[in-house]
Amino acid sequence: DVVVIGDANIDLVVAGCNEMPEPGQEVLVNDMTLHVGGGAALFSLALAKLGMKLAFNGVLGEDGFGQFIRERFLQSGIDTRYIRSSSKYNTGISIAINPEKDRSFITYTGTNAELSLLQLDMDSVVLGRHVHLTGYRGSRNHEEYVDMARKLKRLGLTTSLDVGWDDTGEWYKGIFELMREVDIFFMNEVEARRYTGCATTERSLQELSRHGRHVVLKLGEAGAMASVGGRMSYRSAFEVDVVDTTGAGDSFNAGYVYGFLNGYRTEQCLLLANACGALSVSRFGGSTGVGDRAAVERFIRE
Ligand code: ADP
Repeated sequence: DVVVIGDANIDLVVAGCNEMPEPGQEVLVNDMTLHVGGGAALFSLALAKLGMKLAFNGVLGEDGFGQFIRERFLQSGIDTRYIRSSSKYNTGISIAINPEKDRSFITYTGTNAELSLLQLDMDSVVLGRHVHLTGYRGSRNHEEYVDMARKLKRLGLTTSLDVGWDDTGEWYKGIFELMREVDIFFMNEVEARRYTGCATTERSLQELSRHGRHVVLKLGEAGAMASVGGRMSYRSAFEVDVVDTTGAGDSFNAGYVYGFLNGYRTEQCLLLANACGALSVSRFGGSTGVGDRAAVERFIRE
């Protein structure tokens, strides 16, 4: 039903690191765990848990980490046929230090740098009815994305996109043009304020809605807002103890897209998405929190 195009990497999560090592120094920590990471990969795992059929389209290294990610995908029922292997780089790795607060990262882009929308075999993209795209280091050429979104629209598929954080400024050039081409556009509030230059979240959503018909803003512990055809909706977040915020936005996106593809009203999409985001932050690892459809329903009722 769904094809996901984007990044996958290994997340090494280091908790309880009270001081960063100085050159030549060693710091011992009590806890270090290994997880699948990367926006597109986390989105895929959460969406598959909810029960959606999907294929992942990305690039992994010919190494143990690539194998680890493939196995996790297969265990989750994700179609891995279209994953490309590359021997040029190793699988990407992101080391997240103190995931619960003031997170620091050390990131190696790895094979994600080889993912190019221009080189994708369209046969592997048009398998389903919806395509979800993520921005990632290595490709922030908005023209590639605009081109892909237009192609998919002509073929009758719907699209969603989360460009993610951009510290290079590359996306600024074409973000509004890109918004016009995709069906659902996801952002968090920090990104929204930066991209629009507006001081408040409400103003930035108003500004974004002049360009995109369906825009969803993630507000962290405050929940989420959406503007669909100019109509605004808001839903507050669930109250949970935060353990690890990695992947909250991607799990949220999965819940929202699940609702959208199942014909839910916007308020219901936001409710399901907030539940997936809350479940994600309440567990270590970006992909471990979100349960199956029944578990998420139970969480919402409790
Ligand atoms: P991103 O991970 O993209 O920065 P956010 O931090 O806004 O996005 O989180 C995405 C979603 O996850 C939020 O919209 C909300 O539904 C949920 N979420 C995030 N932090 C919390 C929290 N502390 N408590 C409850 N839900 C949260």
